[in-house]
Amino acid sequence: MIKKTAAQMSASLTSGETTSVALTQSHLDRISEVDSKVKAFLHVDGENALAQAAKVDAERAAGKKLHPLAGVPLALKDVLAQEGVPTTAGSKILQGWKPPYDSTVVSKLKQAGVVILGKTNMDEFAMGSSTENSGYGPTFNPWDLTRTPGGSSGGSAAAVSAFEAPIAVGSDTGGSIRQPAALTGIVGVRPTYGAVSRYGLIAYSSSLDQAGPFGRTVLDTALLHEVMAGHDPKDATSINAAVPNVVAAARSADVKGKKIGVIKQLQGDGYQNGVLARFNESLELLESLGAEIVEVDCPSFEYALAAYYLIAPSECSSNLARFDAMRYGLRTGDVDGASAETVMNATREAGFGREVKRRIILGTYALSSGYYDAYYGSAQKIRTLIIDDYKKAFTKADVLVSPTSPITAFKIGEKSEDPIAMYLADVATIPVNLAGICGMSLPAGLADEDGLPVGFQIMAPAMQDQRLYEVGGALEAALVSKWGGYLIDQVPALGGAK
Ligand code: GLN
Repeated sequence: MIKKTAAQMSASLTSGETTSVALTQSHLDRISEVDSKVKAFLHVDGENALAQAAKVDAERAAGKKLHPLAGVPLALKDVLAQEGVPTTAGSKILQGWKPPYDSTVVSKLKQAGVVILGKTNMDEFAMGSSTENSGYGPTFNPWDLTRTPGGSSGGSAAAVSAFEAPIAVGSDTGGSIRQPAALTGIVGVRPTYGAVSRYGLIAYSSSLDQAGPFGRTVLDTALLHEVMAGHDPKDATSINAAVPNVVAAARSADVKGKKIGVIKQLQGDGYQNGVLARFNESLELLESLGAEIVEVDCPSFEYALAAYYLIAPSECSSNLARFDAMRYGLRTGDVDGASAETVMNATREAGFGREVKRRIILGTYALSSGYYDAYYGSAQKIRTLIIDDYKKAFTKADVLVSPTSPITAFKIGEKSEDPIAMYLADVATIPVNLAGICGMSLPAGLADEDGLPVGFQIMAPAMQDQRLYEVGGALEAALVSKWGGYLIDQVPALGGAK
């Protein structure tokens, strides 16, 4: 049962072939079996999950009309507030905090009857590309347990690729859904900025943060996308427009006559051979399906990484000021006579990890009055140039494409001592975030040199998310018929169920 897609699980629930309680129990068993090796979860919420499953089963038995994902289990990135359930954002500073409210994403999942299995591991406050910056230890890639699953949503990606959950929620500020999806051989989508509510999503960089879906197939990802998206008056940046019909797009999966733009700047130097080989094969497949391939030029992308690493730390230095030992989670140094400032210092020193501190310092410096124009101001100008590059490129093509990550999954420890090397992992995903548009990564095969998954990235204009699913669905269908199954079927079993 756990090997099925979410759409197949939904059909089995509807036909009465299985119940949500049985389905949820199978996933909890799988978690007990493999998560000591994968470490995808920070908190498994078996009791609540089974109660929610039983509720959906009772409603189904009573003939209530249910959402297609009702009764289907899901893994939730620990960056989203869930009422009464430990929520840490991967940080020691939030250890023990139980939110008194649900984030909008969680409310929507509950409303649809989705069963939340637990909270997944992540880089602390979503800062990182390997999940090694978690305050609670790393997550391991199910394809090779000596490697990282990418990040920052590495726990969610690993849970889906290890069959611990059919679908999962992540968040993507600079690539944190697409890059781990690429490194674990699954599908991940970063929706258009403002399409999914940020209410209750613990903030890293508010102008870039966006939650989105993971699945093992394009259709499963679309089903979850539709549940998560929609206008929310509680988020001032939420877009008040109809959700694009991503599920219909995933089903129609048609690329005939579509123009696909290959971004010149996102290939070549620094990209692994096996990554480029699978990328080019996918382009040929799209062409054979009737798409037209064109090349597009985005000269400002050269500066995207530098601009991102000024804007994101600047916003984080402000957002993380709220962790002051007074309002949430950890408090240390609170001895008789200690001043508020002493307690604050001691708590922030003990509660934040190295990378988080590095970014707070970077951001505080970039925003300081003497340097504001030179750093933050310049980065914002680059951001505008990147938006313009995309605008021009989208006059020549319906969607743009590139490899998702320049390299396949790297070893645990390989980049953790070298922040710049780690930052480069997102060189192909960051432009999407700076422009506020949408992007998908889907599996394009295994690299010849290491046998590890390669991701193919598709990008579309704001609020045209359905285009990702049309093109992604068509490419997935062609690849699946070439391979005789999904790529994820080749993931090692980890001593687990068939
Ligand atoms: N790796 C990037 C960073 O560390 C992106 C992270 C993300 O998307 N949350 O900022």
